[in-house]
Amino acid sequence: MEFNLEKLVRPHLKDLKSYATLRDIYVGEKMFFLDASENPFGEFNRYPQGNPVDLKTCLAKINGVKEANLFLGNGSDELIDFTQRIFCEPGKDSILMMNPSFVMYEIYAKMNNLKIEKLNLNSDFQLEKSAFLQTVSKTEAKLLFLCSPNNPTGNAIEDLEFYIQNFSGIVVVDEAYIEFSKEVSAVKLLEKYPNLIVLKTLSKAYGMAGLRIGIGFASEEVARLYNRFKPPYNISSESQKLALEQLKNLPQIEENISKILAEKERLKNSLSQISQIVKIYPSEANFFLVEFKDAEFAYKKLLENKILTSLRHPALKNCLRISVGTTEENSKLLNVLAQI
Ligand code: PMP
Repeated sequence: MEFNLEKLVRPHLKDLKSYATLRDIYVGEKMFFLDASENPFGEFNRYPQGNPVDLKTCLAKINGVKEANLFLGNGSDELIDFTQRIFCEPGKDSILMMNPSFVMYEIYAKMNNLKIEKLNLNSDFQLEKSAFLQTVSKTEAKLLFLCSPNNPTGNAIEDLEFYIQNFSGIVVVDEAYIEFSKEVSAVKLLEKYPNLIVLKTLSKAYGMAGLRIGIGFASEEVARLYNRFKPPYNISSESQKLALEQLKNLPQIEENISKILAEKERLKNSLSQISQIVKIYPSEANFFLVEFKDAEFAYKKLLENKILTSLRHPALKNCLRISVGTTEENSKLLNVLAQI
C-alpha cells in the first residue's frame, strides 16, 4: 500500500510553529532562569524538562530503538488523543477501530468530532480478513486502531502485519498489555512499515499507572510530529524522576510480572470451577474477560464485598472484566464468587 505522510497530516499543522523553549539545553547548569515566569521559591517551582532525554534514553534502550523513534505522553491515553488531533480533521475525517476494543479510541473520536467505523470481531475476538479488506476498500478512515492484546477481550490479534500492509493510513498498534503476553512486540516492524505507530505504557506491566507515562514508537519523521505538537511539559518532573528510579530495577519489575502470571494461572483454574461462570476467555493480558450466567448479579455481590470489577463494555453481554490482583485479593474474589 502506498503511504504518503504529507497527505495524512492535517494541512494547517504544516506551517504551525510549536512552543519553543531553550530551557532543556541548559539543564544541570547553574543559570538564572528568568525565562518562564516561574516562582523562584518552593520545592516544585521549576517546569520539567520538555524533552525528557534521560527517561527517553532509558526507554529506548529497554525497547531496542533509537530515542528519535520515541515520543512520550501523559499516559498512552494522551497519545491516542494526539494521534487523532495530528491526523484527523474534526467534522470530516474518520477512524477505524475494532469492536469490542478499548473505549478511549471512541471517546476521544467523539471529543475530536470524528466519525467512527467499527470492525466487528468474530466469536474468537479476531478480525476477519475478508471483511477487513472490504471495509478498507470503501473507507477513507485515516487511522486504524488495533489493540493487541485487546482490551477488554484479552486476546492477541493474529497476523497484525496483514492489517498494517493493507491499510494506507496510519495503523496504531496499542500494546498496553504486551509485556504480559507471549507475543513479540510490533516495535520490531517499525523499520518495515512507515505507517505504523506502536503505543506502550508504564501503567500496566511496569506498575506505574500513577505516574502517567505512555510511550509512542514510530518512524523518526512521525515521532518528530508528536514531539513538535505535544504540550511543552506533558511529563511532570516527579514522574520523570520516579520512573527512572523504578526502571533501574528491571529484575523487580520482571519478578512482579512473573508473580502476576502465576496468579493468573491459579485464578483461571479456580474460576473455571465456579458454577455461575459460563466462560473464561483466553487472555494474553493481566485480566480475564469472564462470562457469567448473570453478570450484573455477580458484579453487585462482588461490590457488596468491596470488590470492584468492570462491567462496562456495551458489546459484551453478561461479561465482567476482572484484573489479576495479589494472592490475597484473588482469593477473596474466588471466595465471594464461590458463594453466589
Ligand atoms: N490502551 C489500552 C488498551 C488500555 O487498556 C489503557 C488503559 N486502560 C490505555 C491504553 C491507557 O493507558 P495509560 O493512559 O494509563 O497509559
